[in-house]
This record gives sequence, structure tokens and C-alpha cells, in this order.
Amino acid sequence: MADAILPLGSDNRTALRRLVESLNLPRLEAGWVWLAGAGPGDPGLVALHTLSAIAEADVIFMDALVNRDLLTLARPDAEIVDSGKRGGKPSPTQDTISRRLILAARRGRKVLRLKGGDPFVFGRGGEEALALVQAGIPFRVVPGVTAGIGGLAYAGIPVTHRDVNQAVTFVTGSGVKGTAPDLDWHAIARGSPTIVLYMARRHAGAIAEKLIAAGRNPNEPAAIVSSASLEQQKTIVTTLAGLGEKAAQADTPAILVIGENVRLAEGLDWLGAARRGRKLDPDPLQRQRLSDAG
Ligand code: SAH
Repeated sequence: MADAILPLGSDNRTALRRLVESLNLPRLEAGWVWLAGAGPGDPGLVALHTLSAIAEADVIFMDALVNRDLLTLARPDAEIVDSGKRGGKPSPTQDTISRRLILAARRGRKVLRLKGGDPFVFGRGGEEALALVQAGIPFRVVPGVTAGIGGLAYAGIPVTHRDVNQAVTFVTGSGVKGTAPDLDWHAIARGSPTIVLYMARRHAGAIAEKLIAAGRNPNEPAAIVSSASLEQQKTIVTTLAGLGEKAAQADTPAILVIGENVRLAEGLDWLGAARRGRKLDPDPLQRQRLSDAG
């Protein structure tokens, strides 16, 4: 990410505003808070509502994982507030963030709260929105591309695929007390062919053990996708049994996925094909080859 981000200039903001007006889209107004998702990192994945709010806002409250390059669209006089909550580092509490949003809106400012991925997926967007409701502040939610779907798509892993899974479970790997979350792992192991884990680097080994103890095949494929959709995106393919060790070595942020879907990357890693000339296999599940052989 660039250290010095050059603003795009008022003519670009005007062009964006014209586009928004021509499509009859709403604009961020004084006294409002927009709670928007910035996607997994690639600025091209950000919704038009969110881009328009970045260009319009008086104040932008940024999460740690939001790509700062997006601020090129912000007004030069916009106030940028870092409100990231990163494990280990001092960061504002959830209450403080909500209070600051409310105060800024009450002062009649146009307030944008920018969150990584989708604001309502493991992002505490619901908590912030409820605080706004309680304070009587009008707000709009702009969904974003979540890491567990769009991030995996950038690694060529479809989160559902008819031949492989008709259900998927999204799990946070970070429990309330800093341990692996206290879930019915037996039910998840049995009921969900594909399991997508957010914030799970630290507890990946413990989670894999629980799933194996609940009957999952230790050899089933798993993958870790780090910095999905960014320049430094990296995929590590492993097995359920190997997930803990590999996750510990992986870069952050990382999204983890367990299930046969991972095999599809051999056919669908479009970014690897574009960037590194990876050869794509049109039959990654070996359906054709098996039926030919049989
Ligand atoms: N609201 C976000 C998730 C916030 S929790 C969303 O919808 O995506 C933060 C976790 O999201 C990280 O620990 C990681 O598991 C995942 N994540 C976010 N951005 C990512 C990225 N670019 N690549 C891989 N994982 C990412």
C-alpha cells in the first residue's frame, strides 16, 4: 500500500457525483452515518455507494484492514480516523468507536464508517448500527465483498460447487475468551461439507483436531489464502491434518477453507494463470478422467 496517497482531485469527485446522480443513487447526507464494506482489499471490488460516500464524507472512520488507497477519492479536507481493532495492538474499544460515530453525526457531519470485507460478517457492524439506532442517528448499510466468498474466489475456490457441496458454514476462529470458539463441532463436521474460517490462524490446529475427532477425514483438502485480492495474495494448499502447522506459517490476514472445493483451484486459479502463467486443469475433480477410465 502506498505511504503517500495522492488525492484524485475535485474533477474526479464531480464525475463520480454525476454518475451517482445519473443512476439516481442516494448521497451521504449531513447527520447520517453510512456503514460500508470495503471488500477484501482490491479497490476494484468496492461498491459504487461506498466510493461515492468516500468522496462525499466529512469524516471517515477506517478499519485496519481497509485498503488505504481508497482514500485517494476522499476530499483533501476530510478527516480520517483510524479505528481499527487489531489483536494485540492498542485500539479504540467498540463503545468508543460507536460513540465517536454518534458524536460526529450529531455535529451534522457526513460520516462514513469503512470496514474490511462486509460490515455484517464478523465485523461488528451490527453492534455499531444498533448503537446508531439507540441514538436515533439515520444510517445506511452498504454490503461489501466478504473475504470468505470473494477472497476465496480470487484464489479460484468457489465457495459452493454443485458436485462438491450444497452447504457452507462460515465460522470465526476466534472465540470470546481468546480460545477456539465453543461451537458444536460435531454438527459442523457432519452437516457442512465446506467450512470457511475467519480469524482462525491461531486456533487452526485446535479446530482441525476437533473436526477430525468429529469424524472428518484428516486427508481432506484445506487451503489458506493470505491477503486475498491484494498484490501479495498467496495460497497454501494443505490437508485438514496439516492446517494448524501451515496456518501458523501463513501471512495475515488469512482466510481458511476446508473441503473438496479447494481442489477446484487447480482448474479455476484465474489469477495464478494471469500472473504466473499457471496452467489450469479443466477437470480438477477428475470426474471426466474417472468416467473415461471406468
Ligand atoms: N468483515 C470482514 C471480516 C472481518 S474479520 C469480511 O467480511 O471479510 C477479519 C478476518 O477476515 C481476518 O482475520 C481474515 O480471516 C479475513 N480477511 C479479511 N480480509 C482478508 C484478505 N484480504 N485475505 C484473507 N483474509 C481476509
